[in-house]
Parts: sequence; structure tokens; C-alpha cells
Amino acid sequence: MILIFLGTAGSGKTTITASFGGYLEKNGNSVGYVNLDTGVKKLPYKPDIDVRDIITVEELMKEGYGPNGAIVESYDRLLSHADEILSGILELDEELDYLLIDTPGQMESFLFHEFGMRITSGLKEPLAAYLFGPDILRRPSDYCFVKFFAIMIDLRLGTTTVPVLNKVDLIREEELSSIRRLLEDIDYLNARLKLDPSMQGFLAYRICSFLPEVSPPVRVVYASAKTGEGFDELETLSYEHYCTCGDLT
Ligand code: GDP
Ligand code: MG
Repeated sequence: MILIFLGTAGSGKTTITASFGGYLEKNGNSVGYVNLDTGVKKLPYKPDIDVRDIITVEELMKEGYGPNGAIVESYDRLLSHADEILSGILELDEELDYLLIDTPGQMESFLFHEFGMRITSGLKEPLAAYLFGPDILRRPSDYCFVKFFAIMIDLRLGTTTVPVLNKVDLIREEELSSIRRLLEDIDYLNARLKLDPSMQGFLAYRICSFLPEVSPPVRVVYASAKTGEGFDELETLSYEHYCTCGDLT
């Protein structure tokens, strides 16, 4: 079973790779860890495959690249190693129950670079977990954005994508129930969006009305990489995905 953690910088990909992996191991599973981030300094897990054995952002900055140029250059250089990395991943996947893939800090280095495409397209039915934090959920249109973004990942990488609201330990109980309602009850969300007279409100309303037509109502996981909340749900979803290949309604 392959699970790829994606999300913007700081959304908790690295932390959840370590803590969810630890949770799975405690439940008796064998787990492998893959680090695809060339820029990370310290990892809270021991990677079985680590792209930093090939190239790091730090080395490239010593060659004179700026931070952004070094990130892009590192994936350009990794491209010629994509097949060897991929076969390493596939070999590990054969031996282990779960394989957790931690992706670059900056999500665009994975979603918009050929390297990310090459790796994901070679994997057998991976499940992508799109991590986002409560901090981006301010207006009703943000809820639409998050749902749509999960579908965009699906479209780009060809993976089934499950939205994971991480850092729920930072949310008060009442706040979480209102977040849940906006994420899960599409009619309620649309009714709220309809009241928003702004251009974004209108756009979000149109996009969100269209969502049920193009995507099944995939469950949202509410998790905390810090406390382990929601890990049982994430495990169930991974397992269901593995067994049914994609139907996570
Ligand atoms: P990445 O860039 O997506 O790999 O994010 P990291 O895993 O490095 O996490 C970024 C920051 O968020 C770190 O300071 C983590 O300790 C913190 N963090 C990650 N997950 C959680 C969580 O579930 N709850 C809280 N409170 N903090 C978290
Ligand atoms: Mg990270």
C-alpha cells in the first residue's frame, strides 16, 4: 500500500509521515519511508530511500544557486535518477505492508515538475493524502478551494486523493463542528456561498455546485500529526482504497 503525503510547505507532511508510520508499525505493520524532499535538513523518521543521497538543496546553494533555483535544479538533476528511485520504491512496496512517501516542502516542486510525475505514474494505485491546515479555512469559498484542489491533484497525478485536514489539535471543538459541516454538507456550503456577493463567492458557488457531478463525495480525514487523532480513519481509508481501488465514498 503506497500513501503519498502532499500539501503546501508546513502543512505537516514530514511530521505525519513519521507519526502515522509509527502508528502503523505499532499496529503490527511493516512500514517503509521514502523522502523525496531535497531541501529538508532533519527528518523525524529513518528513510529507506532518500533523494538527499543523490542531491541536496544545500549542496546546490554552495554551487551558487539561490534557494528557489537550487530547489528546481535539484529536481532537474534527480530526473535522470527517477527510474532507479522508482524501482527502489517498487521493490520496497513488494516487501512491506505500507510505504509512506514524504514529498518536497514546496508542493509545486512535485506537482509541476516532471520528476514528481515520473515517480507517481510508475506507482501501483497509490493513494495521495492532500494535507491542509485550519489556517486556510477562513471564508466559505476557501472550503470550495480545498475540495477542488484535491480534485486537481487527482487530475494532475492520476491518483485517488483524499483531503486531510491536519492540525485538528489546534481547533476548538465548536469550531471543528462548523468546519466539518462546511466540508461535508455540500448543500449547506452552497447555501452559504450563495450569500457571498463577491466575485470569488460567485465563482466558488459555481465551482462547488459542479463538484458532485465530477467527483464522488470522498471523505475528509480530520487528523493531527501531533496527537495521532484521525490515524485510524486514515488507515481504514488506505485499506479500503487498496481493496476497492479508488471508491472512497
Ligand atoms: P511539511 O513542510 O509539510 O513537511 O511540514 P512539517 O511536517 O515540517 O511541519 C511543519 C510544522 O507544523 C512543524 O513545526 C510541525 O511540528 C507542525 N505540525 C505538523 N503537524 C502538526 C499537527 O498535527 N499539529 C500541530 N499542532 N502542529 C503540527
Ligand atoms: Mg517536509
